[in-house]
Amino acid sequence: MQQAAPSASLPERARGVIPGGVNSGQRNVPGLTDLVITRAQGASFWDSDGRRYTDYHAAFGPPLLGHNDPDVVRAVAEAGGSLDLCGVGVTEGEVELAETLVELVPSMERVLLTSTGSEATFHALRVARAATGRRLVVKFQGCYHGWHDSVSLNVISAPDRVGHKDPISTGILPEVLDATLVLPFNDRDAVRAAFAEHGADIAAVILEPVPHNVGCLLPDQEFLVTLREECTRHGSVLVFDEVITGVRHGLGGWQEVAGIVPDLTTMGKAIANGYPIGAIGGRADLMDMFSSRPGAPVFFAGTYNGHPAVVAAALATLRKLHAEPVHEHVFRLGERVRTELPPVLASLGVPAVVTGYGSVFVTYFMDRLPHTYDDLLDNDTRMFVGYRRRMIDQGVFELPLNLKRSHFSYAHTDADVDRLIEVTEAAVRAQLA
Ligand code: PLP
Repeated sequence: MQQAAPSASLPERARGVIPGGVNSGQRNVPGLTDLVITRAQGASFWDSDGRRYTDYHAAFGPPLLGHNDPDVVRAVAEAGGSLDLCGVGVTEGEVELAETLVELVPSMERVLLTSTGSEATFHALRVARAATGRRLVVKFQGCYHGWHDSVSLNVISAPDRVGHKDPISTGILPEVLDATLVLPFNDRDAVRAAFAEHGADIAAVILEPVPHNVGCLLPDQEFLVTLREECTRHGSVLVFDEVITGVRHGLGGWQEVAGIVPDLTTMGKAIANGYPIGAIGGRADLMDMFSSRPGAPVFFAGTYNGHPAVVAAALATLRKLHAEPVHEHVFRLGERVRTELPPVLASLGVPAVVTGYGSVFVTYFMDRLPHTYDDLLDNDTRMFVGYRRRMIDQGVFELPLNLKRSHFSYAHTDADVDRLIEVTEAAVRAQLA
């Protein structure tokens, strides 16, 4: 690829040296790859034209306290002044963070840190296969668990791809795709049938307990109970991927909300309010198989695992979540949107539902609350994306990609909710015109 001329704009220069001009396939958003971000603070970010956006995208979820939360920034600065990565031994912060997570998250008897959620889910599946000596992994249509091969399929699938293997990437070995079974979420019968047929070969079942990568499908409690029962009966490892739900929906994650203890839990995102972190934790007998323990057989590594700045960010985040009414605030704002927006949409005569949990919300353009992935196929994609584009024009940023969720942070205010509702009305009106 040819490098752009020095006089080129930043996006042109970016495209000259960065494929597509952005650093993630998830940032390859039509019309937004020219967006140059210059500043982020609290509930807002700014672009290079000085425009401010109220940020509900929230970088796919990490900044639960808001961007550049002063307590987190201070903790990172203090850690950086006296310590950085040494790659040997352990630091006090790592121990304190592990102790905190073990105390908070019901399934976590031991915990290991990674730098991303993908690494955490990768290691969860590897250790499950090692522990069981089995091959198959079960995932659910609509759930996303990161970029690695075993789970890179059937996230947002077109109607004609649902029920088939639908990889999100080329370059994955067919035998890897073969080793992942994809089931419909919230379908107990499908789970029972899969275990009846393949139970002795299922190493792990992995799920987002609330599939937020398609907005929000609330799980039936009986569905989660069935997963727990079938995994226990067949000796398979149940993995709750709480990369989004962990911390954000409560300090103990969805497992605490549901009262169901998985064998392994993966976390990331909001733990460190935006600093790169992931965590895997769970049953001691499984976690003790990782090679951080002398002689243990499941290789586990990562140069940046437990980076002192990231650990300091996580500890400051968790401390603030304990000390201040963060959940109370973000849950209240989420509830306001879920209750106050539907009448406005109804008055405009547009089929729409507003759902979510706690700080997470999503407006679907369909006539009933979705319960399964198949239900989501009724969402009016053109309306969903078009409405969000019009909101962005008014400085209210919800990611204009089909089925993406939005988030409140501690930095959002009631005035932000008022404006969201006001701007929605105008945006939907314009979109319908
Ligand atoms: N699991 C879930 C539920 C996620 O939403 C994501 C990222 O969006 C991941 C895993 C992967 O995390 P990361 O992007 O930090 O690798």
